[in-house]
Amino acid sequence: MFRTIDALDVKGKRVLVRADLNVPAKDGKVTDSTRIDRSAATLKELASKGAKVIVLTHFGRPKGREEKYSQKLLLEPLAKAVGQPVAWADDCIGPQAEAVINGLKDGDIALLENVRFHPEEEKNDVAFARKLAVLGDLFVNDAFSTAHRAHASTEGLAHILPAAAGRLMQVELEALAKALGTPEKPVAAVVGGAKVSTKLELLGNLVGRVDYLIIGGGMANTFLFAQGKPVGKSLCEKEMAETAREILAKAKAAHCHIVLPVDAIIAGEFAENAPNKVVSVDDVPDDQMILDAGPASIEAIIDRLGGCKTLVWNGPLGAFEIAPFDKATNAVAQAAAERTAQGKLLTVAGGGDTVAALAKAGVDDKFSYVSTAGGAFLEWLEGKTLPGVAALEVKTGGCGCGKGGCH
Ligand code: AMP
Repeated sequence: MFRTIDALDVKGKRVLVRADLNVPAKDGKVTDSTRIDRSAATLKELASKGAKVIVLTHFGRPKGREEKYSQKLLLEPLAKAVGQPVAWADDCIGPQAEAVINGLKDGDIALLENVRFHPEEEKNDVAFARKLAVLGDLFVNDAFSTAHRAHASTEGLAHILPAAAGRLMQVELEALAKALGTPEKPVAAVVGGAKVSTKLELLGNLVGRVDYLIIGGGMANTFLFAQGKPVGKSLCEKEMAETAREILAKAKAAHCHIVLPVDAIIAGEFAENAPNKVVSVDDVPDDQMILDAGPASIEAIIDRLGGCKTLVWNGPLGAFEIAPFDKATNAVAQAAAERTAQGKLLTVAGGGDTVAALAKAGVDDKFSYVSTAGGAFLEWLEGKTLPGVAALEVKTGGCGCGKGGCH
């Protein structure tokens, strides 16, 4: 259970909002304002309720104060997104920030300079968190994508000020809860991508939680190899074969059904339009590599999804960047989107290349929820507690503040 902004009386209050406005930029200009646009809803709602809204964010990975990481370039797109002027403070703590905030009227919005200009931010330094906290009466965390980091502005602040999740964070947490917290069963997970070694914890967590684990991409080759299949010169982590067998055994014990490719599209090289053909996974020649799942595998996966109510997806089923090795990813993603549109399947996806793969398949806006959170989404799939989320949880007991033992 976490608190949302519905639980806060924000009128006339200074509300510190941790957003993630870490957008791509080139030559001092924002090149993709998606994150800013998505953050606007919470900021506009708070402003319309009469709060003095103070936006905290990071931009890039500065080492101390580095002007090339100044957040001034965010001002214009932010003002456009919220539809009102945004005040600017040259620092996120101290007299400069205080002066700007003192000048705010109810309903105004201010953006403070990069929280990572202070190394104490990433150290979750309590004294620094207190310096941030004196600028506000309430704290709203709307940055799920940084919630896997225990930093002063993502975690520390929530222990000092009354805290709640912003609307973006709320939507993300609700979607994730529906997908793996209390999902409608049967639940399937599609896990693809390059390597088993980068997704060990994720696979380990999912086998205990889903009914069907559909494995594709380069990592499926390692599982096929572990089962004694020939993989030719495919991407394959042969040293992970034992680990793959352990995951298969763990899945069996947990009654999780693992779905592996039965056929594959093979080619002699990893290249766009490389000559290719379909073979059974029992017949991959030594000089060929598996670059995608074949048609029988696609049919089997889509068939399997037909009986499921919930789908979690991370990673492409093949080398989706190079045609025609994007077929399995596209076909399965489109089938999942169709069932989502029919109201038969809840689809939640995210992490790494997944957003790009779904966008390429033309379905990134047709899944129930696509998380752009990257690392935080992956850590959630791994079953980890995200410190930024845990700090917003309403605990019972304690002094009655709802936070339980934090005061
Ligand atoms: P990840 O970041 O782990 O989700 O991996 C994504 C990458 O895996 C993409 O760049 C894909 O091209 C790559 N990939 C997927 N399937 C294969 C495959 N069969 N062989 C080589 N690379 C693959």
